[in-house]
Amino acid sequence: MNRNLLFSCVVLTGLLAIGCKQTNQVKEKGSDATASEVAVDNRSKATAGEAVNTNAQILAKPEVPILCYHRIAAGKKGDYTVSPATFSAQMKVLSDSGYHSISPAQLYGYLEYNKPLPQKPFMITFDDSRAEHVAIAAPVLEKYGFRGVFFIMTITYDKKNYLTKDQIAALAKAGHTIGLHTWDHTMVTKYKDAATWKKEIADPKVKLESIVGKPVEFFAYPNGVYNHNGAKELSHYFKLSFTLISKRDSSYPLQTIRRMIVPESKPQRLLNSMRQTFKLV
Ligand SMILES: [Zn+2]
Repeated sequence: MNRNLLFSCVVLTGLLAIGCKQTNQVKEKGSDATASEVAVDNRSKATAGEAVNTNAQILAKPEVPILCYHRIAAGKKGDYTVSPATFSAQMKVLSDSGYHSISPAQLYGYLEYNKPLPQKPFMITFDDSRAEHVAIAAPVLEKYGFRGVFFIMTITYDKKNYLTKDQIAALAKAGHTIGLHTWDHTMVTKYKDAATWKKEIADPKVKLESIVGKPVEFFAYPNGVYNHNGAKELSHYFKLSFTLISKRDSSYPLQTIRRMIVPESKPQRLLNSMRQTFKLV
């Protein structure tokens, strides 16, 4: 897979219809940090006496493979859809190969405090709050003892074909992690004022926390796209934020963690893609 591929989704919020497309756009404006900038974020909440890695140390750590799914549906084609049969086969091969799913909290502990991870760790994430994430994906995860991360676009609460508030709460109760994916999928790079940050991030985060009954500490960028200012601002809200591109922000490595879109593909090919994309040994 070309590491520089940028995958972008287009959400037609009026119709609540989601489509995705893949482009070769690679450069995000202003993603380079200045040396004088110091991240003041959730990392400052570190327990006194615990070692905290520097940004350079975080960037140097071996990556954990992180998978990103959108649609799981039969009879549909596209880079952002896998069939239920393929999804099951992909989870089976991961289980058979000895992979263990980890939570974003575990990833945060590993990156920030060098906490140990299980052997062959990976993370499985789902974007866009689709109903099939509960109807199809969650039972398969349960079968293999995996736990997922569900990034919720909160405009879709209780809408047809999207997760209900009760389903989101049930996922959290079952041990999965609930993260935020903005209110209406507007890209973070387009937030120009405090009112937009409030509408897209602050208010939905509070509402989502009231639904799941615990802090929402993780975020997935709509379209996977970030810029430096966005990563900096998000560090005040989230422990980790997830992109879909390989380039990290050197000042905010925890806010620019790369995931890999999983296409319809044979299980062995997924394993190979994971190894190549995340440089696994
Ligand atoms: Zn999305």
